[in-house]
Order: sequence, then C-alpha cells, then structure tokens
Amino acid sequence: MDCVFCKIANGEIPSKKAYEDDKVLAFYDLDPQAPVHILIIPKEHIQSVEEITPQNSAIVAHIFEVAAKLAKENNLTNGFRVVSNVGKDGGQSVPHLHFHLLGGRSMKWPPG
Ligand code: C5P
Repeated sequence: MDCVFCKIANGEIPSKKAYEDDKVLAFYDLDPQAPVHILIIPKEHIQSVEEITPQNSAIVAHIFEVAAKLAKENNLTNGFRVVSNVGKDGGQSVPHLHFHLLGGRSMKWPPG
C-alpha cells in the first residue's frame, strides 16, 4: 500500500522519533504548528477515526496513554491539545489514523 505513514512506521521513510513500541510510533511533524508538534500513529493501517471499531479501538486508548507520557516529557504543564482530523471537511491530508499532540503555546477555539 502506498501510504506515507505506513512507510514512516516501517522505517522506509525516516522520521524524528519521539516514542515507539510494537503498536505505535510517535514522531515530530515535518511542518510544526506549535513549539511541540508530535504525531502519534498506529503501526497498523487504519484510515481514520471513521474506521475505529470495537475490534481495533484499544489502540486509541494506547495512543492517548502515549500522548499523556509525551506531554509530561515535553513539560506541557500549562496544557496541550490532542486532535485527529477526519476526511475532507476535517482537514485530513494523510489517510492513515494519526493524532496531533500540540503544545507550548496557547491554543485558539474554535479551530479554523
Ligand atoms: O491532519 P493531517 O492529515 O492534515 O495531518 C498530517 C500531518 O502530517 C501534517 O501536519 C503534516 O505536516 C505531517 N506530515 C509529516 N511528514 C510527512 C507527511 C506529512 O510530518 N512525510
């Protein structure tokens, strides 16, 4: 499958890793939108939140555990944002499930 995040997950495309285990990879976004901008992805190809089912949803809990750990490690003590864009209207540009961990500045609401 020609998926850029699958290639990053299997090491075919290099990335600056923040965390890795057998199920997930976290790496620094190439085009950071905040002082800390890390993407957390499952190694398994799941297209988006739309494809989360009772069979694969445990990975989402694991990703949030990793987000909490990375937020602590990056001293995001004033808060941070975890967001997943879905589809065209959601602004998803890479069709492989990923959660953005953004921090180090004050976030605006609502997002654009
Ligand atoms: O939510 P969205 O799908 O737009 O997020 C994709 C993110 O992946 C972008 O923030 C983009 O900068 C990042 N990216 C990356 N390395 C790539 C391709 C995309 O960090 N090779």
